[in-house]
Amino acid sequence: MADAKNAGSLTITGATTFDDRKVNVTITDGKISHIGNEIHGEEISGKGKWLIPGLVDLHTHLREPGKEDAETVESGSRAAIKGGYTAISAMPNTNPVADTAGVVEQVFRLGQETGLCDVFPIGAVTTGQGGRQLAEILAMANSAAQVRIFSDDGHCVSDSLVMRRALEYVKMFNGVIAQHAQDPQLTVDAQMNESLVSSKLGLKGWPAIAEEGIIARDVLLADHVQSRLHVCHVTTAGGVEIIRWAKARGINVTAEVTPHHLLLTEDCAETYDPVYKVNPPLRSERDVMALREGLADGTIDIIATDHAPHSSENKECEWQAAAFGMLGLETAFSIGYQTMVQSGLISFATLIDRMSIAPARIAGYTNHGGTIHIGESANLALVDRDSSWQVDRETVQSKSRNTPFHGRELPATIEVLFFNGHAHHVKAL
Ligand SMILES: [Zn+2]
Repeated sequence: MADAKNAGSLTITGATTFDDRKVNVTITDGKISHIGNEIHGEEISGKGKWLIPGLVDLHTHLREPGKEDAETVESGSRAAIKGGYTAISAMPNTNPVADTAGVVEQVFRLGQETGLCDVFPIGAVTTGQGGRQLAEILAMANSAAQVRIFSDDGHCVSDSLVMRRALEYVKMFNGVIAQHAQDPQLTVDAQMNESLVSSKLGLKGWPAIAEEGIIARDVLLADHVQSRLHVCHVTTAGGVEIIRWAKARGINVTAEVTPHHLLLTEDCAETYDPVYKVNPPLRSERDVMALREGLADGTIDIIATDHAPHSSENKECEWQAAAFGMLGLETAFSIGYQTMVQSGLISFATLIDRMSIAPARIAGYTNHGGTIHIGESANLALVDRDSSWQVDRETVQSKSRNTPFHGRELPATIEVLFFNGHAHHVKAL
């Protein structure tokens, strides 16, 4: 089949694109070069499969530098491609904190050296994530990593004046502040959602208002200074309501929900298994339904993983002593498919918007989140929607084992991932 003109080309044949086109897609020199009936160069059969733009995560914890026993940029990148991601965004709560050009460039270079997917660092809002003094935001924006998202994730930027200054500052380069909305005073020592379940279990509760109060303040601040706010991991029905109200008023706010908050409820805590301990906490069934509705109607823009690897010594212990967080990269697509598409709430194409197109647009990742057209970077994935697979924490690509989905049978398998045109047969990983 190979013709001289397209030596080195690769054609994915027989697949259906996420938006229902039955076409062959040819990749040449890392770009989509032909779409149609022809076959150029090497052939990869996509018969019976779906072709999607590679997924984009705006909320990933990679633990390097500082906690390489839990995850590295390399192991996190492998987990990412296994899960269908061609771009991930590394949160800055490392040791040292990514609050300078030096640290964000280090993470960016580690991602490039690994070369499996793009790793875009998120910079800290405040020095050391201490919440008091703005970090070197402009230096990070102008660095080789070209940071556009800033977050103190893990901590809330709770001081209203600091939050206002941060929102004003990132306007200079069309950046965005991604807020972990958690009022610190209302959540001292909190362990799980505040409800009848927390009283029954004797665990200190984390009220919904601790999240909603910060979201309400921040959308008003973003409106006041005419800047961009992104709300991380929304978990409450009230939070969805506030964001819906803000969007209706024209406030420049975007929001994310995690796969685990779309599926699991606070009832999981009754097992006292710390694998279900997460920040923000799992909420009620009513909240889960409101989050699904919010994602379906676009109030919540995207699914973000909040992939949070932890070593077993920090997770396999008593609930009170355990670290907050769950793995997410390898299971996110299947959970999104199950909770949103199989449930009939959204179409497959809308799921791809929420997991690839919209996050790439929010972050400005122009080589990702395409719509499969000629000239785009070949960052793609081939998916089998009809197959299922069983989650096994012993065989995950992440260095950590803390998946809450161990043993579950999940729908939809990522088969091949294309990063800058290079094919990775990730199903075999
Ligand atoms: Zn967070």
